[in-house]
Amino acid sequence: VRKLNPATGEVITKIAAAEAEDVDVAVQAAQKAFPAWAETPAAERGRLLLRLADLIEENSEELAQLESLDTGHPIKDSRRLDVPRTAACFRYFGGIADKIEGNVIPVEQGFLNYTTREPIGVVGQIVPWNFPLMFTSWKLGPALAAGNVVVMKPSEITPLSTLKIAELIKKAGFPDGVVNIVPGYGHTAGQRLADHPDIGKISFTGSTQTGRSIVNASSGNLKRVQLELGGKGANIVFEDANLDAAVNGAAWAIFHNQGQACIAGSRLVLHEEIADQFLEKFVALAQSIRLGDPLDPNTEMGPLTSELHRDKVLAYAKIAVEQGGKILLGGTAPQDARLKNGYFVMPTIVEAKVDDRVAQEEVFGPFVTVIRFKDDAEALQIANGTEYGLGSGLWTNNLQRAHLFAKKIKAGMCWINSYKRVNPGSPFGGVGKSGYGREMGFEAIHDYTEVKSVWVNVDAIIPPHFQRGE
Ligand code: NDP
Repeated sequence: VRKLNPATGEVITKIAAAEAEDVDVAVQAAQKAFPAWAETPAAERGRLLLRLADLIEENSEELAQLESLDTGHPIKDSRRLDVPRTAACFRYFGGIADKIEGNVIPVEQGFLNYTTREPIGVVGQIVPWNFPLMFTSWKLGPALAAGNVVVMKPSEITPLSTLKIAELIKKAGFPDGVVNIVPGYGHTAGQRLADHPDIGKISFTGSTQTGRSIVNASSGNLKRVQLELGGKGANIVFEDANLDAAVNGAAWAIFHNQGQACIAGSRLVLHEEIADQFLEKFVALAQSIRLGDPLDPNTEMGPLTSELHRDKVLAYAKIAVEQGGKILLGGTAPQDARLKNGYFVMPTIVEAKVDDRVAQEEVFGPFVTVIRFKDDAEALQIANGTEYGLGSGLWTNNLQRAHLFAKKIKAGMCWINSYKRVNPGSPFGGVGKSGYGREMGFEAIHDYTEVKSVWVNVDAIIPPHFQRGE
């Protein structure tokens, strides 16, 4: 596969594309490694993950450069967010490895009932192109801490940082076969992971459509599936909000990583009293965002990660206008001649009706749809009015309203007076067409283990099993 630089369209390297047979070889290697890995003391598994976190920090600049070159993330963000968050995530799961406990359950007298958590075995992990480095840690961390072995497919568009992580995994001393990385296409390598009879679980991050095909392919051996799919995050600004904080937060919510984030705040839901004032500040801020070479530390927004995806995002500007939407900013590629070969899109702000396609479908770019509301009931109706339910946010100083919305909003995550916070300890995932299962925290550990319930007769007097009549 030719690997292109999204900022220039130039070929930077070539990457092997694994076929189904290569995936089979990787699964065999994983199966062979599983018994010893599952028996490895949990503290030792944790130690290896902590060592990996240290190695990531030692190689932080190389990883940041690779991630920016590969994806188009501004280097400022790769250095300050992607790399440190990756190290922190591995470190968190390194710490959790020897804290995976079971329960003792009060059952009938005379019996002791306890639970243990066992690894699933070989797990398949399919990573998308938007945060390849960070997602590698979100998926490998809990799987390995819990004693599973992994076959992981990075996106063929952005495999570079994951391949570097594979090198560091070897250096950290993980036994051979515990982690297997198979870059390749979704319809071949990805499909084989999803239908492989010896894989016990698939963890997938990507589109709802592909998620659905993975569920179908996984049904042969009834794999466990965890899906982290798209989103159409509502970011609601109430009339009592601190407007400057909300403007800033809303810009971060949609323009960070060029809007290529499942949790992006891509629907800006504004109270009609403050909407005009808010938009004046918001458009001015968006206009001032510095687009440029991702490797330039002054760049605030890089290119989109692929040409195909850039075209998809730009097509949504046309769709918005066709349906009567009003473009307040952007909707085109930038004019700047320096950027003409890269996959850049201007920060785009569109005002639309609640049922328009741009208010319902995931655009996955620096593209935010503005919708106005009159009262709290309408705000909630708009927020819950899509098929998705991943990230959500609200800006208000009314405590009661904040908690009520947090309760009523149909989403896996809700940020109050902030947006897009993530932490390895806090569960991450969605409801509805945003998928099921959770990454991060103990929830992820639960998703990567099978629970076993053990019954011991301590001193129970058991009545005869067969009650035969006299
Ligand atoms: P996909 O869901 O198609 O791709 C995500 C990953 O799944 C890639 O590694 C891909 O490989 C792989 N894949 C594709 N088809 C299959 C298959 N049949 N079986 C197993 N794996 C498969 O997303 P796209 O890259 O096409 O992006 C389309 C849209 O999806 C975006 O515009 C966005 O809306 C959404 N998306 C959401 C993400 C999120 O974070 N939740 C991340 C990425 C996309 P390959 O690249 O070779 O196709």
